[in-house]
Amino acid sequence: MGGPNGGDGGNGGNAYIYGDSSYNTLLHLKFNSTMYGEAGGHGKGKDQRGRNGPDLYVKVPLGTQIYVQDEDGEREFLADIVDSTPFMVAEGGEGGWGNTRYVSSTNQEPVLAQRGEKGEAKILFLELKLLADVGLLARPNAGKSTLISRCSGAKPKIAAYPFTTVEPILGAVSTHGKDFVMMEVPGLLEGAHKGVGLGHEFLRHAERARIYVHVIDGLADDPVADLKMLNNELRMFSQALSDKRQIIAVNKIDVTEVREKMGEIEFFLREALVEEEVVSNTPGAEPTAEVPIMFISAVTGEGVTDMLGKLVEYLSVEAEEAKEAQETEPIPTPARKSLRPAAQELVYQEQDGYRIESEPLERLAAMVDLRDQRVILQLWREMTKSGVARRLAELGIEAGDTIRIGRFEVEWF
Ligand code: GDP
Ligand code: MG
Repeated sequence: MGGPNGGDGGNGGNAYIYGDSSYNTLLHLKFNSTMYGEAGGHGKGKDQRGRNGPDLYVKVPLGTQIYVQDEDGEREFLADIVDSTPFMVAEGGEGGWGNTRYVSSTNQEPVLAQRGEKGEAKILFLELKLLADVGLLARPNAGKSTLISRCSGAKPKIAAYPFTTVEPILGAVSTHGKDFVMMEVPGLLEGAHKGVGLGHEFLRHAERARIYVHVIDGLADDPVADLKMLNNELRMFSQALSDKRQIIAVNKIDVTEVREKMGEIEFFLREALVEEEVVSNTPGAEPTAEVPIMFISAVTGEGVTDMLGKLVEYLSVEAEEAKEAQETEPIPTPARKSLRPAAQELVYQEQDGYRIESEPLERLAAMVDLRDQRVILQLWREMTKSGVARRLAELGIEAGDTIRIGRFEVEWF
C-alpha cells in the first residue's frame, strides 16, 4: 500500500586532522591511536534520510607530517599540517540507499535496500617536523624578543617584566645570503624539567629547533649561574636536546657596566662550559672552542651580524650531519599520490572463475547484503544494466561459476 518509502541512511562521519598550536608533541595520540568515526543514522519511512554521523577531528601540533600506509605496506606522504585547516584523512561510508531508490517501471516493489558502505580505514604515520632552525633560549628578560625583532620581521611584545612571551614566536631571518627561521622560546624558569611554571612548555618548544642560542643577560646578577641553569634544565629534560649545537650570546653590551665586564664574563662562562662537560676539554685543543661565546646588543644591533653569520655556519654543518644520518636511516620522501585510472568496467576470466573490476559494482557489492538472495537478484539487475552480464556471457560463464567483485564472491546462476 502506497509503495516503498524508506529513506537513505546517513553518511558515516569523516575523519580529519588539523593543527592546534597548543600541542607540541604527538604524545596524546601514542596510547590512543585507534579512532573511529561515527556511523550515520538509519533511514526511516516516509523517505526520511538518516542523519550523517558526526565527523571525527584529531588535533596535532603544527608541523606534523602525515604519511599513509599503502597496499604494499609502504609509507606515502599525504599532508603537511601547518595550520588549523582540517585535512580529511578518511572518508566516512556513504549511507545505504533506501528502497525508494530502487523503484522502476519494472520493479514497483524493490526489496533491495542497501547497507551503508563501510568507511575508509587508514593506517597513518605521524611525524613531527622541526618548527624552526634556531631557537632562542634564555631566562625571562634576557632580550630574546628584542633580538628576534631586530633579526626578522617578527613583532613580539617587549617588556621590562618577565613572561611577556608565552607562545613561541617565529621570525624569518635573511642574512649572509641565507634564510632561516628563528624561534623565541618562552621564558625558562628554574625547575622547568620538573614541570614548574612555564617549564615543560618551554622545553617542548625548545625541542623543535635544530640549533639554539643561549641568550645570557649581561645585566644579570650571575650570568654564569644562568648558563649553568639553562644547560642543566636541558640535560635533565633530554639528552638529545642538550646535544644540539649551541651558541652563547651575551646580550646588553650597550650598557657600560656589561661592556666593562665582557672579559670576565667570557672567562667564567668558558670555565663553566668545561666544568659542566658541555664540551670536552681535549688536551691540545682550544678548550670549549666548539661553543662560541659572542657579545651582542639586541638594542643597538652591535655584534648581531657576526652572531647571525655563526648561526648560518652552524646550520650548514648541522644540515650536513642530518643528511649523513638520513643516509644511514632513510626516511620516506614525499610523493604525489598517483591518480587512479578512470572508472572502467573490466571483466576477466580467471582460472577458477571470473573477476569484475568496476568501481560502481564493487561499491554496490560492498554495500548490499550478499546473503540475501533477493538482494543478489537486484545486483544482477545492475550488472545487466552496465553490460557486465553480457560480457560474462560472451566469455562463456556457466551457472555455478564464481564471480569476484572486489572482495566479494557470488555464484552465477
Ligand atoms: P625576553 O623576555 O627575553 O623576550 O626579553 P625582552 O626582549 O622582552 O627584553 C627585556 C628587557 O630587556 C626589555 O626592557 C628590553 O628593552 C631590554 N633589552 C633587551 N635587549 C637589550 C639590549 O641589548 N640592551 C639593553 N640595554 N636592553 C635590552
Ligand atoms: Mg620575550
